[in-house]
Amino acid sequence: MSLTDKSKASNSNNLRPSSDPETSQRLLIKDGWLQNTEQQLSNFFSLREPQEPISLLVIHNISLPAGSFGGNHITDLFLGKLAADAHPSFADIAQLEVSAHCLIRRDGSIIQYISFNNKAWHAGVSCFNDKEKCNDFSIGIELEGTDNIPYEEAQYQQLSILTLSLQQHYPLITNEHIVGHCDIAPKRKTDPGEVFDWSHFRQLLQEYNIITNEE
Ligand SMILES: [Zn+2]
Repeated sequence: MSLTDKSKASNSNNLRPSSDPETSQRLLIKDGWLQNTEQQLSNFFSLREPQEPISLLVIHNISLPAGSFGGNHITDLFLGKLAADAHPSFADIAQLEVSAHCLIRRDGSIIQYISFNNKAWHAGVSCFNDKEKCNDFSIGIELEGTDNIPYEEAQYQQLSILTLSLQQHYPLITNEHIVGHCDIAPKRKTDPGEVFDWSHFRQLLQEYNIITNEE
């Protein structure tokens, strides 16, 4: 990309009014990275193809070991550093090369591993609207959780703010293009699980959108 193209691209990103991060329900995104957010850089990514713009948001859950929260095992997994002997259940997964763009922990804090402008390896064999390989055109967000333990309100709030921020930056992620992993890989995956409250999430999206637009 030439310098001229780059400046054009950044100008077009600035067409929408930038919000004050102190007061708005938005997170700033620069060069594919959330600003003022913890970063743990993972090598488990690949480059996006220009003909595959980001048009889908996939919501997942993960906990390591399953059902236990806190600690650094999820980050270790996404960074390829999970110790196979740290827990009996890790032996089978320690060698996996998997990642997500972000994790939202139980307290609502975010860790970003992969630039949104690159592909994370979260969806696996998957299909959305007859299009396969969802990693090619999606962003993957992990909630620290399980299919059957209710998520924390802080996670719903942060997920909603993150989603609105992503929608502002990647406008092809319409509300109809926000799905669970279970929706794009129904025979293999169940996350984010039956406890994920889609109507609450969608209500928060609407509320926060109104708040920001009124500012
Ligand atoms: Zn998943």
